[in-house]
Amino acid sequence: VITLKDCAVKIAVVGTGYVGLVTGTCLAESGNDVICVDNNEKKVQTLNEGRLPIYEPGLLELVQRNRKEARLSFTTDLQSAVRQSRLTFIAVGTPQSDDGDADLSAVWAVAKAIALALKDVPPGPPGSRVVVVKSTVPVGTNARVAQILAENGCPHVDAASNPEFLKEGAAIDDFMKPDRVVVGVRKPEVAEALRELYTPFLRTERPFLAMTPESSEMTKYVANAMLATKISFINEMANLCDKLSADINDVRRGIGHDQRIGFQFLFPGPGYGGSCFPKDIRAILGMGRKVGQPLGMMQAVDDVNEAQKQVLFQKVRAHFGDDLKGKTVAVWGLAFKPRTDDVREAPALVLIDSLLAHGAAVRVHDPEAMENVRATYGDKLIYCDQPYGTLEGADALAIVTEWQHFRTPDFEVMRRLLRTPVIFDGRNIYDQKVMDQFGFTYYAIGRGKRK
Ligand code: NAD
Repeated sequence: VITLKDCAVKIAVVGTGYVGLVTGTCLAESGNDVICVDNNEKKVQTLNEGRLPIYEPGLLELVQRNRKEARLSFTTDLQSAVRQSRLTFIAVGTPQSDDGDADLSAVWAVAKAIALALKDVPPGPPGSRVVVVKSTVPVGTNARVAQILAENGCPHVDAASNPEFLKEGAAIDDFMKPDRVVVGVRKPEVAEALRELYTPFLRTERPFLAMTPESSEMTKYVANAMLATKISFINEMANLCDKLSADINDVRRGIGHDQRIGFQFLFPGPGYGGSCFPKDIRAILGMGRKVGQPLGMMQAVDDVNEAQKQVLFQKVRAHFGDDLKGKTVAVWGLAFKPRTDDVREAPALVLIDSLLAHGAAVRVHDPEAMENVRATYGDKLIYCDQPYGTLEGADALAIVTEWQHFRTPDFEVMRRLLRTPVIFDGRNIYDQKVMDQFGFTYYAIGRGKRK
């Protein structure tokens, strides 16, 4: 007898961004039939032509293979995709709204569209049709999605929460080998349906954790709150090191060997960016505000980060003075982190804005994110295909994203190309001794003044 457990599941994934596209592709890779839906026609067209609308290492090959083997397809037709599917994932964006809270309009719109698509489908047993919210959403969203389904003729369709913990730049590995899978459910049958789906990804005894939707939604925010806290913490300590002539890099080593502390996520830098931490910290602040719970630490994490995004520019200003007219600054790295083309809330953009506002010319290079920056900045910047070419005639180099190939460049060539050998290193990737040897004036984050 073939049970549901032995069958490939038909799945719809609504929203084909960094999360939806990776989710859909990895679920197809494990043998399911997946239809990815997006209301952005251009994205769907690009995907149907076998190309990707985003850069994520390893993703193109997986998309192409699963399309070829007919397990993965792309459409703008939500209704048809949802009607064919046992599970429908919602992976649309939940950006920050003007008041700081998460903007859930896309989630509500999709929940309603799913209900309208399923309202005349005959009800099955519990867990036979499930809407799974993968987007990061405030506590209570799942309950509201269940209500929207019920109000629009689908009381028989279950809602579940399943937050995503992948990192851009390592998204496939994170999805394929998650540290854990968290689901928020009200019925054991729904938990079972999701456990079956994720079993192929949990073969190394990683846990499948079922809880209420409220706890599951909260888990995602608490994870990001902890990670953002670590970054703001080490940045604050780095700034103090700078003033006291201590080197945060040595301090970091000094604390990291303490197993209660560890080394992960304690690298100082130009502030966190990206499409998650900034908005998720503000959303958690919003949740606290709504229930009258003060969140002093979260406010501080956000404040420290906003200030940290100015630190590189402050170093530029301390070196060159206020007026940067006639100066040219080269910027290496635009994406909010390496191995992605995502520039949402990227610290590089904050630096670039300040440089432009003070009259500097800005030459930029990033191996993947240049087109996304060009879409906003147009001809305000000089775009350079090669890292070395970016330095030609520049008065200084600022490093904002630590792409791997920036780590061991030819310093001799760099010094020759730069008009003056000045480096502002937002990621502490170079050794002070090497910088001295090659005659660079070198500013890093939290490494103290040179003796
Ligand atoms: P994204 O902006 O890259 O993608 C969202 C997609 O949804 C877009 O392609 C958009 O066209 C589509 N969309 C919007 N409204 C739609 C609608 N009504 N119908 C169909 N499609 C619609 O966003 P993302 O980075 O993939 O993030 C999605 C969610 O996952 C967010 O809640 C985010 O917080 C969360 N998340 C993101 C990451 C990450 O690293 N990017 C990691 C974990 C969780």
